[in-house]
Amino acid sequence: MTTALAQIRVPYCIDPNWLPYEAIEDSQHIGLSADYISYLNETTPYQFELIETKNWQQSVEYLKQGRCSLLPMLNQTNERDAFLDFTQVYFSSPNFLVSDTEQPFMQSFESIGERTLGVTAGYRITEYIANNYPQINTVAYESELDGLMAVENGEVDLFVGSVHSVNNHIQTLGLTELKIAGWGGPDDDLRMGVAIGNQALLNSIDNALANMDRQQHFEIYNKWNNVKVIDSTNYKLMWQLGIGALVLFLLVLVRYFSIKRYNTVLTTKNHQLSDLQKQLLKSNANLQKISQKDGLTQLYNRHYFNQLISNDDFKDNNQSLCLIFLDLDWFKAINDAHGHVVGDEVLREFAQVLKLCCQNQEIVCRWGGEEFVIVKQPAKLKDAEKLCLRIQNHLKNHIFKHGKALTCSFGVAQLRTEETILSCLDRADQLLYQAKHEGRNRIAISA
Ligand code: GH3
Ligand code: MG
Ligand code: MG
Repeated sequence: MTTALAQIRVPYCIDPNWLPYEAIEDSQHIGLSADYISYLNETTPYQFELIETKNWQQSVEYLKQGRCSLLPMLNQTNERDAFLDFTQVYFSSPNFLVSDTEQPFMQSFESIGERTLGVTAGYRITEYIANNYPQINTVAYESELDGLMAVENGEVDLFVGSVHSVNNHIQTLGLTELKIAGWGGPDDDLRMGVAIGNQALLNSIDNALANMDRQQHFEIYNKWNNVKVIDSTNYKLMWQLGIGALVLFLLVLVRYFSIKRYNTVLTTKNHQLSDLQKQLLKSNANLQKISQKDGLTQLYNRHYFNQLISNDDFKDNNQSLCLIFLDLDWFKAINDAHGHVVGDEVLREFAQVLKLCCQNQEIVCRWGGEEFVIVKQPAKLKDAEKLCLRIQNHLKNHIFKHGKALTCSFGVAQLRTEETILSCLDRADQLLYQAKHEGRNRIAISA
């Protein structure tokens, strides 16, 4: 049975002249990337279809125009990040400087000096040289082959290209006058590039590549890196390139798999870290809750009140707000007569009475000792007074732990326009003092 996904076509473009990496021969895609594409055809729900182009520059153009959605073998660069998402690196190889036998060995691009350097238009190494060595006198060619021929013909002094494709051209065309003249910048770290906006395709390819084992990579590499040596004197360069390439490929393969293993460890560690972070967030939330509550009565504490009034949302909403400051009358006498344990119990009971009389939107805090603050909003003075009366009435009928009823005194103030909460609280405190002074068990109130 074919699934719906099996119908999804993915048009792709390649460099038509870059063997052994990739090329078009008789309208067929051949080379390393062709074998990787065959593997993806078998292992992903996509059907990859080659769109023919005449050179690499046209392939990039087609990708940008949306005529194809995938370039299967290329380096990641800043410029390409604008229109491509990249998979992991699945093939790496070094670049070499190639010259005729007259040129000395060059340690790096710095030693190129006044010499002319052939590059391939649109290649990553060309962008790299332009960005990092703008002083080098470069000549751009349409393909690596054109660049190598230019060195052979004496048009340019040097050419920079990728080890396997340079090797391939030298073998095919018998360019025995050429030699390796030095290292050619950073390695090619080749990936597949998917046109931006095809996340599912990218993930699918990435997964399939991650599932390939060492043997599969090696078989593809071996198939396309078949160095044939006909004459050991004439073909010394081929030997150098071939053996060098094999050693480098093995090193790259080892690096690839150790990175893969390291990534697995990293992913596990990241999961552990994210679990720890979740636990930490939970503990922090618990700690925050604890730090906002008073241990004895479980009412909000003074710290919470301060947090509340410093909150911007609270300030915006406090259009009509009343603060009630209340204090138990003659509480010290309870401690003196019955001890602190009973005193504590009475405070807990008193907190329950406050909770019972208040509604959800009224915030009750223990200010300290036997003093409490109630924030009531939205509220006019009349509403706040009603609440005080409700508490007063409740207290009349409540017999506390020490066997008696209790009274308390209230100071009630309404927040004035342009007044700060703290100044309003200060007025409520003074009114409470006034209520005490006038004989306790009363409500002192002011607009
Ligand atoms: P007033 O009517 O003027 O408010 O008199 P009062 O006795 O209630 O006030 P005063 O300020 O003289 O005494 C308050 C007492 O509350 C003194 C202190 O020991 C006691 N107190 C403060 N915190 C606690 C507490 O957490 N537990 C107990 N048991 N007592 C406390
Ligand atoms: Mg008191
Ligand atoms: Mg007091």
